Amino acid sequence: MPGSTELGLAEAKRRLLAREISAKELALAHLDAMEQARDLNAFITETPEMALEMAEAADARLAKGEAGLLEGLPIAIKDLFCTEGVPTSAGSHILDGFTPPYESTVTAKLWAAGAVSLGKTNLDEFAMGSSNMTSHHGPVRNPWTRPEDNAALVPGGSSGGSAAAVAARIALAATGTDTGGSIRQPAAFCGITGIKPTYGRCSRFGIVAFASSLDQAGAFGRSVEDTALLLQAMAGYDPKDSTSADLPVPDWAGSLSGKVKGLKIGIPAEYRVEGMPKAIEELWQAGADWLAAEGAELVEINLPHTKYALPTYYIIAPAEASSNLARYDGMRYGLRVEGENLAETYMKTRAEGFGAEVKRRIMIGTYVLSAGYYDAYYLKAQKVRRRIVDDFEAAFQKVDAILTPTAPSAAFRIGEKMDDPVAMYLNDVFTVPSSLAGLPAISVPAGFSAEGLPLGLQVIGKAWDEQTVLDTALALERAAGFEVLPYGLS
Ligand code: GLN
Repeated sequence: MPGSTELGLAEAKRRLLAREISAKELALAHLDAMEQARDLNAFITETPEMALEMAEAADARLAKGEAGLLEGLPIAIKDLFCTEGVPTSAGSHILDGFTPPYESTVTAKLWAAGAVSLGKTNLDEFAMGSSNMTSHHGPVRNPWTRPEDNAALVPGGSSGGSAAAVAARIALAATGTDTGGSIRQPAAFCGITGIKPTYGRCSRFGIVAFASSLDQAGAFGRSVEDTALLLQAMAGYDPKDSTSADLPVPDWAGSLSGKVKGLKIGIPAEYRVEGMPKAIEELWQAGADWLAAEGAELVEINLPHTKYALPTYYIIAPAEASSNLARYDGMRYGLRVEGENLAETYMKTRAEGFGAEVKRRIMIGTYVLSAGYYDAYYLKAQKVRRRIVDDFEAAFQKVDAILTPTAPSAAFRIGEKMDDPVAMYLNDVFTVPSSLAGLPAISVPAGFSAEGLPLGLQVIGKAWDEQTVLDTALALERAAGFEVLPYGLS
């Protein structure tokens, strides 16, 4: 059915409820788009049969007037969420052949809401990366290219497959996970919207763990409304995750107003980093002006420990990862490379199963947790993390939300920065602080770089105040009038 992949999630929902289209037509159109766009490498596992079965069941429920929140809407799932009976790889060789015998809470909620599964999307190995280059299943291509040279660009990472699939109109929306920016940065690179809610909003049960005190599931969509709708279906208390918050899930999508009149919006001086492209600085100013024009009050604020956020993150996240990834030993699931004895089997399995970036993080993490260095690195990082949280708490005494750029650059070429991990880590400079503080944050596409690539603005909110984040983002979306269509797609 031509045209139906153009609809947003919320618009497709309205048409399904009005019985103007069927879930089956919608699924077929998206499966067709998926086939046409295989060169993007956005999916690791496609689930077309499941999609059709789920769509037919959705049509039956729609006919009976029993529609769930996402009834009949085709979406994609980052391949970090365990899906019962459907292979789950975390982008790693070490999980080869792993088919989970259980379902993650987030995906269980989505299927219970009637969503239709298109498949599992590509990602950086164990969600470690900012470019999707570290996936065992190969890089993902950003559907956007620079108008002048058509070179293949990264979609950002680690949820690059999900972001590319949504931008390329293969999926109406998609799940992601964000540990230090993995939803917001790819959303910015692919010209779509991505939200990471407050830590504890979405259950981590059944999500392959990277850094448990930071990992949080979230949503991608082509509009703020779509993103709010998907997140609403994903969120909620889960006794199976001890860090899940026992709070009701608000009707974020239904309450969206885009009103910012009277809100105080903080502009943090410390986010003016050296060497930031002029287009990003100008867009940040434009964003502030748009909000002011809608009646918000802009307030200069300080987040003095911002410069320590990246080093702190790159101690805490690898420390937790080194512990979480100890479970991959070739014994219970995934790859096993036999050795002469048990120890050798462990070593060979891990040596072959993990890629270079994952090994780097396991080594850094093991080092900062080792007896002689624990106090100097890990404990110190924990103390600095507290300061970063305090900075935000102080700022939120004065403001309702904070406006920053999402990333310090637009999408770069596939392969770029791979020889320089620190340059790669710098991508996270604006997203990591709010992750360390567990705060909700969104990226909205708002303008273009000098080379004509999408740029995002980030709105960070108070804990549990996703509504203000979403409303501020909607005000930016309306003012920016960003055309969310990659060049060449029609
Ligand atoms: N790019 C960051 C990292 O490599 C963040 C990843 C993420 O949020 N999962 O750790």
